[in-house]
Amino acid sequence: MLLGVRGSTPAPGPDFVRYGGHTSCVAVVPDGGERPTLVLDAGTGLRELSAQLGGAAFRGSILVSHLHWDHVQGLPFFAAGDRPDAEVSLYVPAQNGRSGRDLLAASMAPPNFPITPEGLEGAWSFRAIDAGYHTVEDFRIRATEVKHKGGRTFGYRISDETGSAAYIPDHVISAGVGDEVRDLIHDVDVLLHDAQFVESERQWADAYAHSTVEDAVALARECGVRTLVLFHHGPARTDDALDAIAATYADDVTVHVARQGDEIDVRRLGELHR
Ligand SMILES: [Zn+2]
Ligand SMILES: [Zn+2]
Repeated sequence: MLLGVRGSTPAPGPDFVRYGGHTSCVAVVPDGGERPTLVLDAGTGLRELSAQLGGAAFRGSILVSHLHWDHVQGLPFFAAGDRPDAEVSLYVPAQNGRSGRDLLAASMAPPNFPITPEGLEGAWSFRAIDAGYHTVEDFRIRATEVKHKGGRTFGYRISDETGSAAYIPDHVISAGVGDEVRDLIHDVDVLLHDAQFVESERQWADAYAHSTVEDAVALARECGVRTLVLFHHGPARTDDALDAIAATYADDVTVHVARQGDEIDVRRLGELHR
């Protein structure tokens, strides 16, 4: 379920109601399960997960693509994770030899924020992971470094027996896509990919190390992606502008424009429920 689909900063206001204003967060429910056990990124959309859990504490894992604000600012406002009976394992890309806790505390500690990571209630662990294969919450996870800007950024491929999804919210395709990243998304059932800009904003996409809608569509086609979900919309991209992008690909069932609240069935090759 898509809980936040924006990049950079939340987008409140009447022009952003239909696609939603929260920053990046995706909850993954295992096949046959009732509740999410895996969360991709902890942007402000993470606040929505507490309501989805119906009063229960969160017990599961959070994979963070990178440590930019729009991917972690929901953490201290995640009520279902910030309570004594919560159990949360948080994974961030290893860098500079620092612990997961210290990497997070670079932005989450006084004077930047009132509490440090240990201030979260419940059993939290903070782990710095390397690229490669991991098993998290019974999912097979492949973490691969992708080109972005300002710190190490991972794209993730998440698979089980029933299907596969890849998550690359921040990625500058125009800087060149190596074989490892192509392999990460090759033949995947569902790809959620950075589409912050459009082709007429090329100079900004390159300067901020993001992709355009057109870049994402071309890469997905080259790599045999079955369903592409355009994700991490620019915070100024209004509902009407996103409708216009969706209309461009209306005849192409394999391209969706992410909306907060969308549920995507990976088992059914990305069938969309909204
Ligand atoms: Zn971002
Ligand atoms: Zn970023």
